[in-house]
Amino acid sequence: MYNISQIREDFPILSRTVYGKPLVYLDNAATTQKPLCVLDAMRGEYLSVNANVHRGVHWMSQQATDLHEAARETVRRFVNAKSAAEVVFTRGTTESLNLVASSFAEGFMREGDEVIVSAAEHHSNIVPWQLQAQRRGIVLKVIPVDDGGMLQTGRLESLITPRTKIVSVGHVSNVMGTINPVREIISIAHAHGIPVMVDGAQSVPHFRVDVQELDCDFLAFSGHKVYGPTGIGVLYGKEEWLDRLPPYQGGGEMIERVSFEKTTFERPPLKFEAGTPDYVGTHGLAAALDYVSALGMDNIEAHEQALTRYALEQLCSVPGIRFFGCSPGTEARHDAVISFLVGNIHPMDLGTLLDQLGIAVRTGHHCAQPLMDRFGIPGTVRASFALYNTKEEVDMLVEGIRRVVAMF
Ligand code: PMP
Repeated sequence: MYNISQIREDFPILSRTVYGKPLVYLDNAATTQKPLCVLDAMRGEYLSVNANVHRGVHWMSQQATDLHEAARETVRRFVNAKSAAEVVFTRGTTESLNLVASSFAEGFMREGDEVIVSAAEHHSNIVPWQLQAQRRGIVLKVIPVDDGGMLQTGRLESLITPRTKIVSVGHVSNVMGTINPVREIISIAHAHGIPVMVDGAQSVPHFRVDVQELDCDFLAFSGHKVYGPTGIGVLYGKEEWLDRLPPYQGGGEMIERVSFEKTTFERPPLKFEAGTPDYVGTHGLAAALDYVSALGMDNIEAHEQALTRYALEQLCSVPGIRFFGCSPGTEARHDAVISFLVGNIHPMDLGTLLDQLGIAVRTGHHCAQPLMDRFGIPGTVRASFALYNTKEEVDMLVEGIRRVVAMF
């Protein structure tokens, strides 16, 4: 049973007020709130076994190392990787994407080689490749999006050339919530022998993502968007790729033997984890993944889908509302994010006035300026849902928007 009031008790912050109004937190695509079990796990580690991992002979270091490596196994299970060696801990999606862009370009791309991204990417899946374009002369190509915000996957085949070395696409748009057909993209790319990196920042928190089923070569996601702590994230990579990629950063942990003549590196995943890892963060992330697993990703997905459908239906009645990438009837290709504008009310004004009512939404370009350019708008208002949001909160959002519209 999905008992929403019981679930909300696990997130004490949800019962706080803002400006004397009950908080309605609808900015979950930016970051999610944390259940007590995550905070308890991290506090427990600091209180009982805090010690640096991987290098100590002493008891506490071994305990901390066990927790850290157990977290890796939890992530492995969560995304169904073949082996825990395929799970690299990073600071988040952004670092995972930078790692792949940097190491892949260094290892496998020469001037004139091409990477394909999409027009709906978050900046963190554009700028790291642009940095490589500046440094190595590689070329970015872009899968366009249609007026409904869907990737024009049919165009992918014609973008691929013998110089295409990798495709890097988002699984779910953080602006529109559109679910991209990554399975299809991966099949097309693999038919040409091209690996695919998937930005899972907005998919992993909302539905079951199975890396073996998808057959993606890399997957990135952030702990803080899936009810875990900030500053910890994951890069999944197929073992054969992680073995071949050059290291990203150098330092302790990632080496096998160092001398001034020659340094050899650890095997993955440690090869990509220079320095002291955020071992308390990994333990917190594991607690978060255990929490959502216990609720059931399928139950979370069903709850969020129903809520999104309800929100779209209710929002339709707001005069002058215009949706981006979603509308009633497109829910099957759509996740827990709704982006909209109302009449010619500036998104910032709408967001600020909703804030006064205790309703937290996101406004602006959502780190996807090329997509804003595609639609010819400066930004949108975005409401994004999580496992703990309720229909009553949707009603408050709709009522809040109506009040703002009436003011204008
Ligand atoms: N990709 C997408 C689709 C995102 O939504 C975000 C966060 N808004 C990121 C990447 C970057 O994630 P982080 O800031 O946690 O590294």
